[in-house]
Amino acid sequence: MNDKTHVLIVGAGPTGLTLAVDLARRGVACRIVDQAPEPSGGSKGKGLQPRTLEVFDDLGVVGPILAAATPYPPARLKVGRVPFWQVRMHKPVAATYPLVMMHPQWRTEAVLRERLAELGGKVEQGSTLTGFEQDAGGVSARLGTGETVRARYLVAADGGRSTVRKALGVGFSGETREEERMVLGDVRVEGLGREHIHVWVRPGKGMVALYPMAGTDTFQYLASIKPGLAPDLTLSGFRRVFAERSMLRGVRLTELLWSSLYRVNIRLAERYRVGRVFLAGDAAHVHSPAGGQGLNTGVQDAYNLGWKLARVLAGAPEELLETYEEERRPVAARVLGLSSDLHDKRSMKRDEETYQLRLSYRGGSLALRGGERVPDGPLPLADGTSARMFDLLRGPHFTLLSPDPAPRVGPEVRAYAPASPYGGERHTLIRPDGYVGIATSSAEELSDYLAMV
Ligand SMILES: Cc1cc2nc3c(=O)[nH]c(=O)nc-3n(C[C@H](O)[C@H](O)[C@H](O)COP(=O)(O)OP(=O)(O)OC[C@H]3O[C@@H](n4cnc5c(N)ncnc54)[C@H](O)[C@@H]3O)c2cc1C
Repeated sequence: MNDKTHVLIVGAGPTGLTLAVDLARRGVACRIVDQAPEPSGGSKGKGLQPRTLEVFDDLGVVGPILAAATPYPPARLKVGRVPFWQVRMHKPVAATYPLVMMHPQWRTEAVLRERLAELGGKVEQGSTLTGFEQDAGGVSARLGTGETVRARYLVAADGGRSTVRKALGVGFSGETREEERMVLGDVRVEGLGREHIHVWVRPGKGMVALYPMAGTDTFQYLASIKPGLAPDLTLSGFRRVFAERSMLRGVRLTELLWSSLYRVNIRLAERYRVGRVFLAGDAAHVHSPAGGQGLNTGVQDAYNLGWKLARVLAGAPEELLETYEEERRPVAARVLGLSSDLHDKRSMKRDEETYQLRLSYRGGSLALRGGERVPDGPLPLADGTSARMFDLLRGPHFTLLSPDPAPRVGPEVRAYAPASPYGGERHTLIRPDGYVGIATSSAEELSDYLAMV
């Protein structure tokens, strides 16, 4: 039995990998296990929202992602053989990463795995969590390999069917829309341009779409499936549905690399924490695919939890961990409402809300007169120089903007004196996840906040 592990992460999808990278760069001893013998393929969650790109900037992975990602091309819809509309779904906003970028999920995971390796970590593939117990000092987790891992905390990033959530008996209320299933796959196609997302609707038959997948020579294939019909996940099944709904000649699906049946599930876990065990990502909330929120919300769960686990392991009060559920569960509830709404209305609306730039933790116990996301931009400093905000924030530290930056702060806080009070308050402390923790003119309030974190 190994008791040197501080955090055991179960599941190496985008949520688990983001957390592993964040903990590894903070020097937290963690292990990450995944039951799959090797990393999964599949373009699945392919839209990276602007806020996720900001998080990836901080974690040092935005470069390799943007090297392959592209903005969504305009979508072109035909009904029968008739061109119906062409639309660009995403409009840029005033932010450092102004657009949703298309990037296949398998590649997002590969980039995070590479970053983890740079930081000295590694996913233990083929390692299934089979059970666990917790006590006052930690969690003892049993793996299929026969090993028992002792860790201070366990984070379940084990997906929508989460073994951990079920073992904890945490309810997962919501709905499964059996009547709204989709067949999904990655295909190679001959004879079709890559400048558009192609959508065809054949009345009475259904919808089929092909998304040219950024950074690859493949398309993501998406087709509705009638209630009661068994899905055909083979290349010949894909070809038959495509021919019937697109009514195109001269376009051929030549290869199927990955396929899956996708059920629309809209569910939220009743709790995000039971003792020393936390739920994150799809284990805590599952979405409609509309608006591309699922993967992105999971990444931000991990980003919210990572620094709090690290602080508590370094001696901050245990109550800090209570703020994870307090902050993230309402966000998921709101996002679930949003993605279901988009789904129900078949809406093409994409804005700062879907880009996850408007999420704030205002009103929570960790957002004392704060809670706002700090935007990027130039920050004039008292010494006459100017800095870029994201350059100051990048890394695992807190950032203090204060005219007297020397006082009372430990090595976890980097302090800068701005040319004028940031946001009008004398002291602004920015959390490691880029939200204002406290903005105050009182040095005493600032000290109290620092003691809490
Ligand atoms: C077929 C499909 C299509 C999708 N399409 C879209 C889309 O178009 N847009 C969108 O935004 N989202 C989409 N999603 C959702 C998106 O992929 C998820 O929101 C995202 O993967 C969630 O990440 P996660 O890390 O929380 O969980 P997951 O990616 O599900 O990862 C969970 C991991 O845990 C591992 N695991 C499970 N149980 C155990 C255990 N007991 N022990 C060890 N390991 C375990 C699994 O092997 C898996 O690797 C799709 C999902 C699927 C399955």
